[in-house]
Amino acid sequence: MRSFTYLRPSTPAEAVAAIADGGPEARFLAGGTTLHDLMKLGVEAPLTIIDITRLDALAHFDTAGPDELVFGALARMSDVAADRRLREDYPALSEALWKAASQQLRNMARVGANLLQRTRCAYFRGGEVFACNKRRPGSGCAALDGLDRGSALLGASDACAAVYPGDWGVALAAFDAVVDTLSPRGERSIPVRDLHKEPGATPDVETTLAADELILRIRVPRSEAGRASTYHKIRDRASYAFALASAAVAVRLSAGVVAEARVALGGVATRPWRSTEAEEVLTGQPFTEEVAQRAGQAAFAAARPGLHSAFKVELGARTVTDALMIARERAEQP
Ligand code: SF4
Repeated sequence: MRSFTYLRPSTPAEAVAAIADGGPEARFLAGGTTLHDLMKLGVEAPLTIIDITRLDALAHFDTAGPDELVFGALARMSDVAADRRLREDYPALSEALWKAASQQLRNMARVGANLLQRTRCAYFRGGEVFACNKRRPGSGCAALDGLDRGSALLGASDACAAVYPGDWGVALAAFDAVVDTLSPRGERSIPVRDLHKEPGATPDVETTLAADELILRIRVPRSEAGRASTYHKIRDRASYAFALASAAVAVRLSAGVVAEARVALGGVATRPWRSTEAEEVLTGQPFTEEVAQRAGQAAFAAARPGLHSAFKVELGARTVTDALMIARERAEQP
């Protein structure tokens, strides 16, 4: 392992000043569940590590506000997942956290950094021996002609089809969440839907964050569809696995008709993927299983499967349909 300088700032302003000073080889350390992994794999080799875990002001969260839910970036995943009000009012957000990783990891990982976890593509994580445009720009993509069972059906490019691996970010995208950030240039807000980039020709550039930008908090506008929501995750094993396909959905019904629909997809796209196609199929229609099936199919109409990932088209459509039926049941509860 390379030696590195370890810093522990006491304010967010000190933290962004430190990362600006550290340059491109400086990294923030939050829960460490991703950074430590990537350092062991040789993907990351920072010269400066800025430990932000003592920035207590960023560890609070509030799910009772009249207009929005606010999650400090350093709130622990396990604490947020267990919040009673969140479980009742926005089950999709709570479930997205519960279904991620293991309890030990959720106890360490923070909700801000979780948004930035990197792909699980085996070639990306497998070492320098593999061509990987994300790890080594310009080297090619071993997954294109290789084992692409987990690759993205939506948002991929000829340079990279790596899936965005997160759950929480998918649920946040369904609810039009926003992240507030701080850099030496001041604060700004970014919709979660605009935070992650499709790979295009530069898969190594994964987000719209600047290198010296710190996520302070996540804000979720209150939605009447929150109570009738779910995060449905299909994976190879029932626990501690990444999604083969997932769907964060929320609906609001009026006299049996869908007045509002929110659908976001995980495990099948290069970034948290909002499916306006599925939402358009649902909105204004009586909420029947047939309409839910059509919405699932619409979500994958533009899918481009690879050699071994065609099964995910049907799997993804069924995941959306099943999620919608769970949400309908919740919408009909008094
Ligand atoms: Fe690398 Fe992306 Fe290809 Fe995987 S899919 S090998 S991450 S370029």
